[in-house]
Amino acid sequence: MKTRLTVQEYEAGILKGDRTILGKAISLIESNLPADQATASRLIDQLLDKTGESLRIGITGVPGVGKSAFIETLGKHITSFGKKIAVLTIDPSSQLTKGSILGDKTRMEELSKNPLAFIRPSASGNTLGGVATNTRETILLCEAAGYEVIIVETVGVGQSETSVKSMVDFFLLLMLAGAGDELQGIKKGIMEMADAVVISKADGDNIKHTTEAQAEYQHALHLTSSSVSGWSPKVLTCSSLANTGIKEIWEMILKFKDHTTKSGFFDKNRAQQNVAWFQEYFHYGLKNDFQRFPSIQKELVELEKKIADHKISAQAAGNQLLASYHRAIKAS
Ligand code: GDP
Repeated sequence: MKTRLTVQEYEAGILKGDRTILGKAISLIESNLPADQATASRLIDQLLDKTGESLRIGITGVPGVGKSAFIETLGKHITSFGKKIAVLTIDPSSQLTKGSILGDKTRMEELSKNPLAFIRPSASGNTLGGVATNTRETILLCEAAGYEVIIVETVGVGQSETSVKSMVDFFLLLMLAGAGDELQGIKKGIMEMADAVVISKADGDNIKHTTEAQAEYQHALHLTSSSVSGWSPKVLTCSSLANTGIKEIWEMILKFKDHTTKSGFFDKNRAQQNVAWFQEYFHYGLKNDFQRFPSIQKELVELEKKIADHKISAQAAGNQLLASYHRAIKAS
């Protein structure tokens, strides 16, 4: 099959749930070529009214906490009800180092063979908006392809968890018992973003530690949380290997959906996220446009020097640059 299809071909394939075409459409979104970006944008527009029906779940935690084992077990549980699940993994390290925190080992081996599951790394490319835009649009494509649960997985050591929070309905933080927040690389504020904290590896000799950690985190969350959703964050334990606690976690997520749908928060949050996506996208586009004129770039550097030397005020320099930008647009 050829690598580039028409918008209609992508659309028809995605609506049929064709995984190969879905994969190709995601590659299109991740492409830096302006022609691909234009096609991708038209495709998203075409599919827009077929999106939004899934439950979007963000999962984060440090390497080794058990994310991949957890998603595998949770994914098997969810697909056992006949539900389709897509897993998008974001690895913030891959762009910088070309290496990968998530590792090259085959992750979620069993789930990846399940016809109801679609697993795909979300490239942290440098297209418009970077990681966030690619992943957001990939979520939309997966929804149009009929995936009812979308899991966005990220490693909780970079910036990406904040942007993941802004694209999901439910945010779950996986933690190890007894490792301490510092040791786990958990940045301040992540815990407060969580709708649930799950202590992993609650099996064997570790059960005692996980139960203790559960009480501690429940206490800490109780003190710090003032949730706008009206949902009080829960702390649960699970063992992905022994398959314990998984059913309860899924039930909790469904309860959250029910609770926030009834209160109106679910839809309100989605709408706010959409407006925030638009603003982010628009500001990024504006900044990019600004950078397309070499003369403006040159003037920017000169003005920065003048400001540093106290030769011009920051405000006057800003106005001057804006005026030059307007002239450059007119002349282009
Ligand atoms: P990730 O880096 O967060 O995706 O973590 P992995 O899922 O790859 O798990 C890291 C290690 O922890 C692996 O050796 C797993 O076998 C182990 N592990 C994951 N979940 C469990 C669990 O529920 N119980 C136990 N005992 N080990 C686990």
